[in-house]
Amino acid sequence: MQDAWVVVGLDNGGTKNNATVLDPSKGFLIDQLLETPSRVREGPEVAVEALAQCFASVLDRLGLDVRSVRVVGLDTPGPASADGVISSAGSTNFSHPGWKGFDFRAALQARLGLPVVYNNDGNAAALYAHHVCFGAEGARHSSVSAIVGTGLGGGVIESGHIVKGAAGMAGELGHVHVPMAGLLAEGQPVPLCNCGFFGDAESVASLTGIAQNLLPFWLGQFPGHELGALDPLDAAKRVRSYGEKGDPLALRVFEQQAMALGRLFTIAANFTDPGAYFIGGGVVETVPTFRDWFLAKVRESTHLREEQARVVRFSLVPDLDMAGARGAALAALESVAPR
Ligand SMILES: [Zn+2]
Repeated sequence: MQDAWVVVGLDNGGTKNNATVLDPSKGFLIDQLLETPSRVREGPEVAVEALAQCFASVLDRLGLDVRSVRVVGLDTPGPASADGVISSAGSTNFSHPGWKGFDFRAALQARLGLPVVYNNDGNAAALYAHHVCFGAEGARHSSVSAIVGTGLGGGVIESGHIVKGAAGMAGELGHVHVPMAGLLAEGQPVPLCNCGFFGDAESVASLTGIAQNLLPFWLGQFPGHELGALDPLDAAKRVRSYGEKGDPLALRVFEQQAMALGRLFTIAANFTDPGAYFIGGGVVETVPTFRDWFLAKVRESTHLREEQARVVRFSLVPDLDMAGARGAALAALESVAPR
């Protein structure tokens, strides 16, 4: 069975690792989450070992020998270089001092004794969304994915490939400035992002944006609202459940998020003119009626030319909890079997 080979995808998160296995014909051999603790808070040495165990357990689950693995795909949250060196400034996920400037990709490669291909988690999920949407036709299409979480992540796919950029920072959609005129209400301050920009997409379309910018303003417009009694981050996490019930404050918050995403996509339409726009994250992991309302708002706020409107599609990033590992595996497969 020397000819039968596979690719392993490893998704490294703040608390959990997730693993998948891909065959050369792009079929996934495992259709559920295989999660193990990531232990990133304990520093790189412990975390690399935890990933190696995740790798071993997915092979074990499928009864595969390590010798059948040709390449490994790794994805992690950023910021990191295109080759997987964690930012020297550190980050939310990699707060242990040992992570500063740590070459995560090379360390895992050395530990596993196998080639490791790195991507950040937004790019990996974007590649997976592209693959699900376009399948075997992927190389003939382009797409943009925006994933709303604590921040606003995502990726840009051109002709089936992740656009990484010179420093690995392409697809940082959250920090693209979007026009605020007509988005902000009368008297609403221009939102500030953690990156230092005023009025970028993440300053509105993220959980952090809700907690730091949108809720403080809208709670002032709806005095006595129940969410005002809660801690801001806790309140931000609960806004969606209010939105599902049609709460006017929550609907204003999500309408602004949808407008920010639509304006971001309008920039993409004039920049790379993608064939598909994907949205993922908490904003769409909700009841169908609310999700459809949100998607319609995004679409309504995306200004396309008639020729574009005829050919594009708007869709969801599928299987978001598995999208990182699966996209990392697809990217690794591409590195050994270029189309
Ligand atoms: Zn920003």
